[in-house]
Amino acid sequence: MNTRSISFRLVAWYGGLLAGIFLLLCALLYLDLRRFLEDDLSRAQSRRARQIAATLLVHVKQTGETYVASQTKDWYEPEINDRFIRITRADGTLLYTSGIPNDGSFNPTDVPAFPPPQTESSRKVTLPGGKTLVVGSLNYQPPGSPAYLIEFGELLDPVETMLEHLFLQLALGLPLAVIIITFGGYLLVRRALTPVEQITRAAERITQHNLSERLPVTQTGDQLEQLSISLNRMIARLDDAFQNSRRFVADASHELRTPLTILRGELENIAEDTRLDRELRDRAASLLEETEHLGKIVNQLFTLSRLDAGEAQREWARFDLSELAKTTADQMSLLAEDKGISIDCEAGAPVWVEGDRVRLKQVVVNLLDNAIKYTRGKGAIQLRVRGVNGDAVLEVADNGIGIPPESLPHIFERFYRVDPSRVENSESAGLGLSIVKSICTAHGAEIEAQSTPGSGSSFRVKLPLAKHS
Ligand code: ADP
Repeated sequence: MNTRSISFRLVAWYGGLLAGIFLLLCALLYLDLRRFLEDDLSRAQSRRARQIAATLLVHVKQTGETYVASQTKDWYEPEINDRFIRITRADGTLLYTSGIPNDGSFNPTDVPAFPPPQTESSRKVTLPGGKTLVVGSLNYQPPGSPAYLIEFGELLDPVETMLEHLFLQLALGLPLAVIIITFGGYLLVRRALTPVEQITRAAERITQHNLSERLPVTQTGDQLEQLSISLNRMIARLDDAFQNSRRFVADASHELRTPLTILRGELENIAEDTRLDRELRDRAASLLEETEHLGKIVNQLFTLSRLDAGEAQREWARFDLSELAKTTADQMSLLAEDKGISIDCEAGAPVWVEGDRVRLKQVVVNLLDNAIKYTRGKGAIQLRVRGVNGDAVLEVADNGIGIPPESLPHIFERFYRVDPSRVENSESAGLGLSIVKSICTAHGAEIEAQSTPGSGSSFRVKLPLAKHS
């Protein structure tokens, strides 16, 4: 998981904030409820103490203390209801005290005597064993009698049990709720970021060869829609700029071809005209060579501009790459033999591919041409075609001068030449391999080069086999 991704950070912040707020709310709820229940319990004890005073002790002078004691026991049944009741005379002697409750939860004699309050008060008494008794006390003086201290109490246990339950539920429910909500948030964030991923994928697909494509525009009226519209406008401007530059190169190379042909013709006439001075004819012949070199560059530029315009796939057909390699090797073997170089073609079984035959032939020609050009003395070139794992693989290997490692990553760039002085009479302009690369890209093929300076180079083209070969 990428912890620096926008979705992770958003979800982490959201989950953390949510957990914090939930924790605070639950703590407040728990503490507030605890305070309320304890207060309510002590208010209930004081109320009952007041009831005993108002209903029984008020008439103690007429009814007598025994009646008060027996009525208190009958009405409140403290042993059955787990209550604590104690009525103490002003001199400290007991008028009545409840017995041990039926469930034996506490012993009333454990409740320490309490100095009578001015009027009324409540307190919490911790009993041996750790239980807490909430006791309400009332100091009451019936008409014509001395004062009595009435104490009424109840264990805090049920409240504690309820709070424990609540605590447990919150402790389990809170993380669960945070996990569920955070996961929901994660799904929402992912959904919200899906258009960004679509835009990214579409942007990745756009290269100089398909600048007419546009990014998807989400009709949401928000920043994302604005972003895709702005990016599309930018791509449209780039498309315009590329088209202008391509058109310029295409027009320029096209326009140069006619005057160059005329120039070549005129120079040929001069060079062959025996009536003219020898030196003039020699100069014309040298100019003719330069013009042919220039013509080659112009032709290569024209080819590149047409490839850039997507013309590499004009004549799409299914053909045998082995057969193409063999015929091309045959055609070029004369050129190689002139330099004392042999071409060994290993292309037995048919290897069917789909593409523009003329363009792919140009790939083989350019690679063989380079292999011949950059091999000195008695060299050997190997041309190999075979099918490997659903791909057609064409290899051209030579034992020529090789390419220095620092130049290897640049050889497919336009106008890149390693060192023009490496070959005598070099006509190269550094465009041959860029044409090869453009044709390969248009055919969905990969090309890679390996080389050891002084030992030789090998070029490997891998393109998909034809569907039904
Ligand atoms: P050029 O027209 O100059 O040959 P390329 O684009 O065909 O241009 O090649 C670019 C550079 O790569 C060349 O300048 C050359 O030095 C180097 N190169 C290409 N093929 C080979 C090879 N088979 N052996 C050695 N060097 C090569």
